[in-house]
Amino acid sequence: MSKDSLPTQVNPIRFAENASILRGTLQLKNMPLLCSSLLTDEGEVQVELTFDVDRQRIRYIQGHVETEVDLQCQRCLESFKYGIISDFMSGLVNSEEAAKALPERYDPLIVSDNQLIIKDMIEEELILSLPIVPMHDPKDCKKSLPLNVADDDTATSFTKESPFKVIESLKQKKE
Ligand SMILES: [Zn+2]
Repeated sequence: MSKDSLPTQVNPIRFAENASILRGTLQLKNMPLLCSSLLTDEGEVQVELTFDVDRQRIRYIQGHVETEVDLQCQRCLESFKYGIISDFMSGLVNSEEAAKALPERYDPLIVSDNQLIIKDMIEEELILSLPIVPMHDPKDCKKSLPLNVADDDTATSFTKESPFKVIESLKQKKE
């Protein structure tokens, strides 16, 4: 179970014309750019890609990816499992101009030479799905942020704050 079960590359135009569906798995360890943000490169990604042509003759890929990655919590520095489930709609185009003309429901995917490297597309999708600042759910985290006044009440209310508010209060503390 250590090999990718999806083809490396396909002709997406032909796949769309044939309304093809691709299902399979990709190994995380074959995605070095993604893995540079992960604690381990263990695991695989479930992928389902539906190629088709819509009524406006736009060729598209409807994609679904699912995986679980190991991230490092930036608060307590321990690892945690982060589940990614992502759906996307990519409109196939051959130029920047065509990309701008796509209906909003599509993310443009510029295809050159009728070649699509599946792994690259999925890797990019997963990178976009990673949290900007990886952190446990406050209830699972081993560490609450250091506080000047660490009585129980403030500690509890603090963990409920969003990461942005936490950053904001850290900034204020410095001033
Ligand atoms: Zn944590």
